[in-house]
Amino acid sequence: NASSKIRNFSIIAHIDHGKSTLADRLIEYTGTMSTRELKEQVLDSMDLERERGITIKLQAVRLRYKAKNGEVYELNLIDTPGHVDFSYEVSRSLAACEGALLVVDAAQGIEAQTLANVYLALENDLEIIPVINKIDLPSAEPDRVKQEIEDVIGIDASEAILASAKVGIGVEEILEAIVQRIPPPKGDDEEPLKSLIFDSKFDSYKGAIPYIRLFDGKVSKGTNIRMMSTGKMFEITEVGVFTPGMTIVDELRAGQVGYIAGSIKNVGDTRVGDTVTDNDHAAAEPLSGYRKAVSMVFCGLYPVETSDFDRLKDALEKLQLNDASLMYENETSAALGFGFRCGFLGLLHMEIIQERLEREFGLSIITTAPSVVYKVNTTAKEQVFIDNPALLPPEGKIESIEEPVVKATIMVPSEYVGTIMELNQEKRGTFLNMDYITASRVSLYYELPLSEIVYDYFDQLKSRTKGYASLDYELIGYKEADLVKLDIMLNAEIVDALSFIVHKDKAYSRGRKLVEKLRSLIPRQMFEIPVQAVIGAKVIARENIRAMRKDVLAKCYGGDISRKRKLLEKQKEGKKRMKQVGSVEIPQDAFMAVLKMD
Ligand code: GDP
Ligand code: MG
Repeated sequence: NASSKIRNFSIIAHIDHGKSTLADRLIEYTGTMSTRELKEQVLDSMDLERERGITIKLQAVRLRYKAKNGEVYELNLIDTPGHVDFSYEVSRSLAACEGALLVVDAAQGIEAQTLANVYLALENDLEIIPVINKIDLPSAEPDRVKQEIEDVIGIDASEAILASAKVGIGVEEILEAIVQRIPPPKGDDEEPLKSLIFDSKFDSYKGAIPYIRLFDGKVSKGTNIRMMSTGKMFEITEVGVFTPGMTIVDELRAGQVGYIAGSIKNVGDTRVGDTVTDNDHAAAEPLSGYRKAVSMVFCGLYPVETSDFDRLKDALEKLQLNDASLMYENETSAALGFGFRCGFLGLLHMEIIQERLEREFGLSIITTAPSVVYKVNTTAKEQVFIDNPALLPPEGKIESIEEPVVKATIMVPSEYVGTIMELNQEKRGTFLNMDYITASRVSLYYELPLSEIVYDYFDQLKSRTKGYASLDYELIGYKEADLVKLDIMLNAEIVDALSFIVHKDKAYSRGRKLVEKLRSLIPRQMFEIPVQAVIGAKVIARENIRAMRKDVLAKCYGGDISRKRKLLEKQKEGKKRMKQVGSVEIPQDAFMAVLKMD
């Protein structure tokens, strides 16, 4: 049987435990690429990902491995993103596999995302091969970590492989374990085509390209495929595999992993988790587990220069081609003019898009503070979803407001338990449970409002625990809370882009801190500017930005001309990210100030 020589696997790990480095070693060892070709960490192909040391976009590579038993195997390594924002994509790539390498740092032990990923792997019935990485480090404690894997995850770690992806220890042993311990894919070439989309990308010549894992059937040039969630149909013009570049093959069969192309114009038609079938010989049922990507965090994006609106629109269109989870629609702000309301999977996703707009498209943009989606029950007995605080109905029309809540898992050395509890208290958390992983490490479970996580939660967690805490969370639903909208008035006018929704108990302190912060961030202008925080018609805080005394250049009178020019340049530089709002110039930082309040 042809598929007996196939193994489909993933690598799961907490960030920085060595997933990408290990993937590189496997690619190198199997000679899939020459060392010269092998750029550092080929699987993390975007510059941004490399800089941040995270994997955002999944990819797949076919490795050809001649095992010790003399047989040649086709190993498909399916990469998973390493951040909590992308957990649905992780679950879909794991669904494409029969096994997973569980990489745990020998010095750090199990972290929150190790656990979250293991659960996803277990849900998908994967064979898990524990790999204890970084054993070259002097601080490595492989025996302790082995014990942790047994105690916390409850899987047998006696055959865990001790490895160093950096130095190259244990690589052959890992490849042998993949062949021997991970089962080959089951499936039948003669059954109707049933394949899972676990990723996609956009190619300017070939269109949107779904990456698929076939469970049953085959696909080749000329097959008429149908996307089972949308019913859209396409004729296949090319099928291929990743080596890691795209390599055309004649067909893909049950058990295999590869890509298909068929003049699919829109990546929105290649949804992760969807099932692709053959329309002329269709599967009765799609694969289970499909769901549509939901945006968790929204913000406004506005060009600094009004004339850049069309360029921003083009840029978003282009980014969306490669990223079906990016949502955007037109939005108008009284303060900022024409722009876009954008939806993201999480904060990291948001930051990545912002950075790409600036770096890849050279745009200068103003981003408003991120907001979650509130559910508002109106007095007219309607339910409206609000992703922009400025659009909250007036107080008199609101019966109640519900906010999204998450279940958070925080793993931390036990000496920080008190600190974490304090932080969660401040963040309106509800304690659920606590587990000792070992005598010195603890898992804490909390219910927390998503909006509190969006604010500086993660930074706080890291700084209060010297970087030792790790976090994972999942959305569990909506809960009613006592929330109000806080508006900011500059020069007696509400700046809609600075409005935010906050818990009543925190409104005063946040309002006070925000006006203080704004006073320090907004440069002095020719006249005095009052900065006020208001709830409804009530002013809760006020500061004044005093008028500028003299022209900056006055200092330079009589000075040399080059110094003067430098100053002017500097002023211009500073202006780049300033937005004229009415008669006041507001810097980008001011719009994000609300995030850095506590
Ligand atoms: P990922 O976030 O799981 O993909 O982790 P990376 O592969 O990017 O590795 C994170 C960091 O750990 C990098 O600086 C690697 O060079 C380092 N690293 C990875 N494997 C090893 C190892 O076996 N030993 C040591 N000492 N460092 C390693
Ligand atoms: Mg990585």
